[in-house]
Amino acid sequence: MKGIVNLSSSTYLKNIQDKIVLDVVRRQGAVTRADLAEITNIPLSTLTRIIDGLAENGLLQESGTTGSGRGRKQIVLELNYARYKAIGIEITRKITKVALLDIGANVYDYRVLETLSDPEVMIDHICQKIAEICVDQDIALEELLGVGIGAPGPLDRNTGTLLSPVRLTGWGEVEIVNKIKAALGVEVKLDFAATAAATGEKWYGVGKEYDNLVYINISGGIGCSVVSHNQMMRMSNYDANALGHMVIDLKGEKCECGNFGCLELLTCENAIVQSFLQLLSQDHPSLLRSALLDSNQVTFNEIASFADRGDIACVKTISEAATIFGTGLANFINIVNPQMVILGGNVIDQSNLYFNIAVHVAQNKILNKSGREIAFVKSKHSERTIPIGAGAMIFEHLFSEFSTLAY
Ligand SMILES: [Zn+2]
Repeated sequence: MKGIVNLSSSTYLKNIQDKIVLDVVRRQGAVTRADLAEITNIPLSTLTRIIDGLAENGLLQESGTTGSGRGRKQIVLELNYARYKAIGIEITRKITKVALLDIGANVYDYRVLETLSDPEVMIDHICQKIAEICVDQDIALEELLGVGIGAPGPLDRNTGTLLSPVRLTGWGEVEIVNKIKAALGVEVKLDFAATAAATGEKWYGVGKEYDNLVYINISGGIGCSVVSHNQMMRMSNYDANALGHMVIDLKGEKCECGNFGCLELLTCENAIVQSFLQLLSQDHPSLLRSALLDSNQVTFNEIASFADRGDIACVKTISEAATIFGTGLANFINIVNPQMVILGGNVIDQSNLYFNIAVHVAQNKILNKSGREIAFVKSKHSERTIPIGAGAMIFEHLFSEFSTLAY
């Protein structure tokens, strides 16, 4: 193998045929030279030269031979996954997740940092952590294809700027992309956390085979992204949380958005905790009550865990929130018409009960039930879905000329 080649530099892979070959290999997973010649229409002699060059640079590798019969065996080629590495980051109100992964979604390193209220200090921490990961994993910074970031909105992905994100106290307007680029000298991409997740699910997750899908994250709030006919749908208001502010109860409480009775207000972690505390205040029996030192410290995860053990108050609280969420989901499905609905986020990761009830309610309330076939699934990588998806935004960019997921 030659020395390290910086894949993200514009001087390498300048030959469009190199990129075509790599793109076919990554889509097919494993191919023979004959398959490649047929799919690409590149003459075999030229193809051999291209493959040799890519193999010499460690971008392609042989992965065995075809068949076990008596016919002539052919060498099978695949991407050398480990040569395509990126960093994927998820920024949330409390924690920031940093993952080093490859184009096959294999995670080599995964670290969790506390999210600080000073964005400048936090960006320094993130850059230090990336540098540490590179040292520990024995790779040079230049080998990274880039850094993808999934964050709460509002944000401007074109300028790479966070615009006072709703759940990030102390963070105003932050040019996070430029700052990380300046510090590390690598490609950096920013998008909504839900969009990062949808990209990952489409690129190498549960949504790979689907042209129309929605990804919904339910945790402290609701984030949502839609892939329609293989295009990431972009809203003109640069926001990914419109679903969370679907009004579902006209007589409901006031939301931070100014409306009343928003979906997010009734179905997320905090809503479930508040409903549970209300049940306790009405003297509902609950095993969780006696397990708590201070009922004001109860968390959604504890409620989810006690619901799994059959605690009636916990089951009731989660069931009610999931029923409302399922109703909002049915409304959304009627408008967007996806083939697949992927649910993720801490609420789904922690509670099968919530997932099952939400799906059941949505299936019963969608219009034209018999005429629709919708797959309801959980996100593939649970709590790592968003950082893995943020990394996918970088791989997507590398192959953007050919990607089915248009950017
Ligand atoms: Zn609202």
